[in-house]
Amino acid sequence: MSIFQVPIGFALAALIGVLGYRRRALSRSGVAGAIVTGGLIFGFAGLSGAALLLTFFLSSSALSRFKESQKESLAEKFSKGSQRDLAQALANGGAAALCAVGWGLTHGPLWWVGLCAALAAANADTWATELGVLSPHAPRLVSNGKTVEVGTSGGISLWGTAAALAGSLLIAFTAFIATLLDPTLSSILPYTYTPILITFAGLAASLFDSLLGATVQAIYYCDVCRKETERHPLHRCGAPTRPLRGWRWLDNDWVNFAATVAGAACAVALWALL
Ligand SMILES: [Zn+2]
Repeated sequence: MSIFQVPIGFALAALIGVLGYRRRALSRSGVAGAIVTGGLIFGFAGLSGAALLLTFFLSSSALSRFKESQKESLAEKFSKGSQRDLAQALANGGAAALCAVGWGLTHGPLWWVGLCAALAAANADTWATELGVLSPHAPRLVSNGKTVEVGTSGGISLWGTAAALAGSLLIAFTAFIATLLDPTLSSILPYTYTPILITFAGLAASLFDSLLGATVQAIYYCDVCRKETERHPLHRCGAPTRPLRGWRWLDNDWVNFAATVAGAACAVALWALL
């Protein structure tokens, strides 16, 4: 790895962050998040890492725009718009960035597998959220199977799960192409089952995300709208929200971060065992 790769990586990440801001995919703080996560991934995992991160960033930004107005009326979690902020960028890309640093410094294959699976998990969850909301059937809570309102944390549907599978598969496929083209990777990853393993880990992580959402994630209640919400201290109507269930500190960003770590850990464990 050339010593110039890291500064070049941060410069490219800054460029993409500014473009993302101008295209309204990122908020101001989201640009900082893109520079940190993108800079580390581009800088330490090179072109192959960049291909994975850009596949995630571009596909999830495009899906956020897809049927935007319809989603806003369907579920309130979409009302904050499609711009990602710092916490969201770190929640989705933080685990991948740490794996990228490990990969760049050691070239141990487990770091690369972890990087792929962390991004597969982030992509699976984003696709499930953005497309699952358009499901013609009401979601069911992953913990007890009860039918819940569209957009409820922890609710899953066949559509959302299929979208999660497709999102995970896209990252695994990109990683597979990178393995074919990048000699550093092809020499250490001669296994055809690596893409299957990454796809599985990404899908499993998105279900784990839903499980946390249904059980321990902090959920609040707005007495004015009579609705459950992830928002605190104020609901979008302006009224204060009160704790309903879950651990107070465990907000949606921490849940996303935990899911990407779980995805990486799942893939690494399977890769080491097989
Ligand atoms: Zn309200």
